Amino acid sequence: MKMKNRLFTILSLSAVLLFSSCGNGFSDNDEQNDDLALSSEQVEEGDKTLPCIANIPAEPLSDAEKEGILFMREEEKLARDVYTYLYDKTEIRAFGNIRKAEQRHMDAVKALIDRYDLEDPAGGEEAGVFTHEELQELYDKLIKEGSASDIAALKVGALIEEKDILDLENELKENVDNKDITQVWTHLRKGSEAHLRAFVWNLKVRGITYEPVLMDREAFDRIINRK
Ligand code: MN
Ligand code: MN
Repeated sequence: MKMKNRLFTILSLSAVLLFSSCGNGFSDNDEQNDDLALSSEQVEEGDKTLPCIANIPAEPLSDAEKEGILFMREEEKLARDVYTYLYDKTEIRAFGNIRKAEQRHMDAVKALIDRYDLEDPAGGEEAGVFTHEELQELYDKLIKEGSASDIAALKVGALIEEKDILDLENELKENVDNKDITQVWTHLRKGSEAHLRAFVWNLKVRGITYEPVLMDREAFDRIINRK
């Protein structure tokens, strides 16, 4: 009897552990928050949870998957750092909210970095400093561009989200087959789509129709019109 109780305790404990590591995984909050973002100037950050990868077995990592993880870690940092910079400049609420989501996106990529024992390119790097030269140049260019006006800042936001979506889509299509990575990239893409809608909406209420710079029209419209 005692033995049985102990076993039960152990089982419940592991159930609790399992639940707490994964209990707040995917949810549909993203979509609900998108709608709020479109109907109110208070732009929601999107889903506040991290994608749950703890229960997905790690699989062998290809070189392309590895490069993708290291790149996305810094691309999420680019978004966070540019929005932080532009929030200080413009005090537009969308930047304040979305930068927090980008921190969570960085954390989600960090979980992959830890899981596959990779060296973190963003480890210890201060705001605005990047290991990837391409991202460093982009950061320098975008904070300059975005500083011109509120409109310019919001256009920079939309451009970053377009790039983020395209890069994630390319990873998913060309480079990734591991389930855990697929789950994180899908989660990040969903967040980026919500952010793109938020920036486009913020431009719209200021009288500006945002034209896609990197995406083709059809793909852009599909995201913008998704409710
Ligand atoms: Mn992001
Ligand atoms: Mn984003």
